[in-house]
Amino acid sequence: MSVNQLPDSRPFKVSFPHMGNYCIPVKTLAEELECEIVLPPKMTRRTLELGARHSPEFVCIPFKYNLGNYIEALEKGANLLIQAGGGCRFGYYGEVQEAILRDLGYDFGMVRLLGGWKLRDHINDFKRVNPRLTMMRALRAYRLALRQTRALDAIEDYVRRNAGFEVEEGAFEQVHAAFLGELDTARDKRTIAEIERRYLAEMATVPTERPDDLLRIGIVGELYVLMEPFSNLFVEKELAKRGVEVHRFVTVSNMVSHGGRKGPEHLADLISRSGDYVRYHLGADGTESVSMTYQLMEQGFDGVLHLKPFGCMPEVNAMAALQRLSREHTFPVLFISYDAQTSETGLQTRLDAFCDMLRMRKQRPGAALTAGPAAERSTA
Ligand code: SF4
Repeated sequence: MSVNQLPDSRPFKVSFPHMGNYCIPVKTLAEELECEIVLPPKMTRRTLELGARHSPEFVCIPFKYNLGNYIEALEKGANLLIQAGGGCRFGYYGEVQEAILRDLGYDFGMVRLLGGWKLRDHINDFKRVNPRLTMMRALRAYRLALRQTRALDAIEDYVRRNAGFEVEEGAFEQVHAAFLGELDTARDKRTIAEIERRYLAEMATVPTERPDDLLRIGIVGELYVLMEPFSNLFVEKELAKRGVEVHRFVTVSNMVSHGGRKGPEHLADLISRSGDYVRYHLGADGTESVSMTYQLMEQGFDGVLHLKPFGCMPEVNAMAALQRLSREHTFPVLFISYDAQTSETGLQTRLDAFCDMLRMRKQRPGAALTAGPAAERSTA
């Protein structure tokens, strides 16, 4: 991690890009570290248009969304931006975005979390932003944010698996929204645990009708488009509308449990459970995409959606293995590639065709992929 240049103006008004509802734990973390927060506005078409207008054309889509978030946060008065980093192009995001924003005339500081998952490095650099910060206080803040993250992931996992079968449309969304409101203000671990328990219990009472032949679909792919619903055109909700039980394993809780994207033991485990379709790490989330697809096939899932930003190299690498796996095992995989031009209508048509094909296969077990190449085709 590096704090590159602190802004001249005080107090620091910290902002960070959106990624799903994780703004709640990140906000808690920043508040506990005594930083004033300026949340970027909710994602809209404007966010993407701003980001796309000022980004290199062929950069991956998360870069464009992040840049749009920064511009909108700076317009709201933020003066200190936080960006993380990783082993692929993500490692250059902060540096390039900082240069673009300075060229646009903004005055701000930038914190780049490039030290991976080393907590001590994070805390030492936050101390530069807030010199009064003690190690004890910082540890408490991290633990609290992590507990909120786990509660968030547990509830959203429940929603993904069950919303497709609600009797009254929007019932889960209503409970989910109420949960987010309470989680946002919870500032101790006991309260967070109680909220999680109470909302899981409340969700269990939401009336559902689960057919015997329901479809179970797993979603794999690149981290950002998986976790930011606006960027994937709300694909999980779209699947729920089609009566699908949705499973996704890439969450911040899982990443933390595995020591980050590239925890060596986690990678070795993924490779060993990939049916020999991967022998070496493919970069970023590529290895996990292949390994999880193989595992889901073994567990009897009906199909897998592979989501990736257009031009994402680690996921392009994964696609070759996924296409072979799909062909050799007659296992349906739908590849969806996202860019600033990806249309909702195109996505819905493909989801309709994919779900229809899976239902036909259920009625005729062992049938070939009736959607043929469409089930394997990439839009990239
Ligand atoms: S994983 Fe892919 S989309 Fe994400 S930052 Fe890396 S190259 Fe870009």
